[in-house]
Amino acid sequence: MTWNKGKPHRILKNDMGRVMRQITTKQRKTAIFVISVLFTATFLLIGRLAYLMIFHSEEYATDAKELHERERSIKAARGIIYDRNGVVLADNKPVCTVSVIHSQITDPERVISVLCDVLDLSEETVRKRVEKVSSIERIKANVDKETADYLRSFELDGVMVDEDYKRYYPFGTLASRVIGFTGGDNQGIIGLEVKYNSMLEGIPGKILTLTTAHGTEIPNAAETRVEPLAGNSLTVSLDVNIQRYAEQAALKVMEAKGANHVSLILMNPQNGEIYAMVNVPEFDLNDPYTLNIEYAPKEDTSLSAEEKNTLLNRMWRNPCISDTYEPGSTFKIITATAAFEKNAVSLTDRFYCPGHKIVEDRTIRCHKVGGHGSESFVDGIKNSCNPVFMEIGARVGIEGLYEIFERVGLMRKTGIDLPGEASSIMHKVENVKAVELATISFGQSFQITPMQLLSSVSTIINGGKQITPHFAISAKNTEENTVKTYTYEGETGLVSEKTCETMKSLLEAVVHDGTGKRAYLPGFRIGGKTATSEKLPRSSNQYISSFLGFAPAENPQVIALVLIDEPEGIYYGGTIAAPVIAEVFDEVLPYLGIEPEYSEDELKMDGIGTFPVPDLVGMSIEEAKKLLKAYEFGDVYESGEGTVITEQFPEAGEEVKKNTNLILYMK
Ligand SMILES: [Zn+2]
Repeated sequence: MTWNKGKPHRILKNDMGRVMRQITTKQRKTAIFVISVLFTATFLLIGRLAYLMIFHSEEYATDAKELHERERSIKAARGIIYDRNGVVLADNKPVCTVSVIHSQITDPERVISVLCDVLDLSEETVRKRVEKVSSIERIKANVDKETADYLRSFELDGVMVDEDYKRYYPFGTLASRVIGFTGGDNQGIIGLEVKYNSMLEGIPGKILTLTTAHGTEIPNAAETRVEPLAGNSLTVSLDVNIQRYAEQAALKVMEAKGANHVSLILMNPQNGEIYAMVNVPEFDLNDPYTLNIEYAPKEDTSLSAEEKNTLLNRMWRNPCISDTYEPGSTFKIITATAAFEKNAVSLTDRFYCPGHKIVEDRTIRCHKVGGHGSESFVDGIKNSCNPVFMEIGARVGIEGLYEIFERVGLMRKTGIDLPGEASSIMHKVENVKAVELATISFGQSFQITPMQLLSSVSTIINGGKQITPHFAISAKNTEENTVKTYTYEGETGLVSEKTCETMKSLLEAVVHDGTGKRAYLPGFRIGGKTATSEKLPRSSNQYISSFLGFAPAENPQVIALVLIDEPEGIYYGGTIAAPVIAEVFDEVLPYLGIEPEYSEDELKMDGIGTFPVPDLVGMSIEEAKKLLKAYEFGDVYESGEGTVITEQFPEAGEEVKKNTNLILYMK
């Protein structure tokens, strides 16, 4: 120690003062530092809290609740889709969802091995989910009921098997691009399933279970169950039987002609209800992610996810509404309508076809090389003569033509209730010169969809009424109460009554003895028009053969359009497309209650006509044989041992077709 002598107090005082001053400065600095840290921290915490409270309150509330409540959702049954006669087109199949609750699993290794075996999953996948510490973990959805029941029989702790639904399409491929299908969460992906998703989907329910903070269910605690609300059912205008007739006819011609695909639409031209929309090859709605042989790559190459997606989208595409094409000669119906509406032609006007027409510096040919020579307008449409239509197109002019296109709906979408409808592609009016006008007049140098053509011709033959092609008719809830009736308003008077009558009889003449004669069916009055469209580029020499037909011609109840894409060999619409419509109408017209009425000439044809069955009961077989000579039965069968006829089939008085077989019972 240092002993300091003299003036100790002062020294002390002075030194102490210095020391004290030093201490105070240091402490103050520390205190200020500590206080500022505390302030900053508090400030940050308050800020963070405010942030969490404002922006994440729901999330945290859910987290807090999850400690005590476990929620399992119950899928709502999706609404059923019915055809016009109540036949189920889209249904639900009961399936199950398998989940695990981590905290309840008592034997994880056994759970993993059973789940892998029964559900056919890899151990890696299952282990990850079983070992994950979470409230509930989904293992597999869409497990069929049988497998689910088998799994339940193991009575594994912590494994939940919940009832669920999967969309099921009883007809598989039927009308695949129209009906569409749903994804993993039951949401619509294409077709009516996506268009009417909000009507069909329903509201899912939930099961709330009280648990401890560790996830163990509290015994005897009330389970809260919020029942799901099933979706509304939808009735559509499709008719399964008509769709089938049409599909068979389309498949037959596709195979016979080695075509890429065939589209066929049947609709009521009076109100726009679509009876059938076929695009063969169709795909399987119960397995929509497997490429059809027609869409899969020819060689066994592995596809990237992107490539497969492109091909799937192509397979799911609906060419009737999503693809545009040059309609060709079926479009002459529109040009002729414009000419009548604009008083630019009369039925008796004479034309001359030398096999071509020179328009400015171009020679545009008729399909008949030597030309049709001198002909009336009626002959012109029966012959589908290009020069006649170039001539009347020129008389009407582009403004007049476009005005009619506008009226019959070719300048806008049809408004059909399916997603993905394409618009027509037309020249701007100022870009249409004489050559474009000439080609437009016979259906070239612009593009429309098949649905637009069908819809616009409907307006011409139904007396000038705008129609909206559609499927949806009504929606009902589970109590069978109608919740919505779909209505489709349309303008009237778009085409004059006079033009409508003229067009119907002209188009009947085309089928009676013109280029459409292969669509002729004895007993029925059918109107129609053929077309052979060149696909672009023209140098490819690929064609679309088509035929548009309707019946009965005087009061059309059904209109149909068939398109055969890239047929091999003969490709003329009149030769290969018209018979398809004849075949379909032969089945569909009687089905729709349109009975044949034979003309005198038709009755003379082999096997045509009906007659009433005579009463043969009580006669001997000899007497019956004599009488039957006057009737055109097919084969007559005798049944029984006796000599007197006691019963007959068909019965007396019944109206039967010629060549019907007759059965006689003897005693
Ligand atoms: Zn000609």
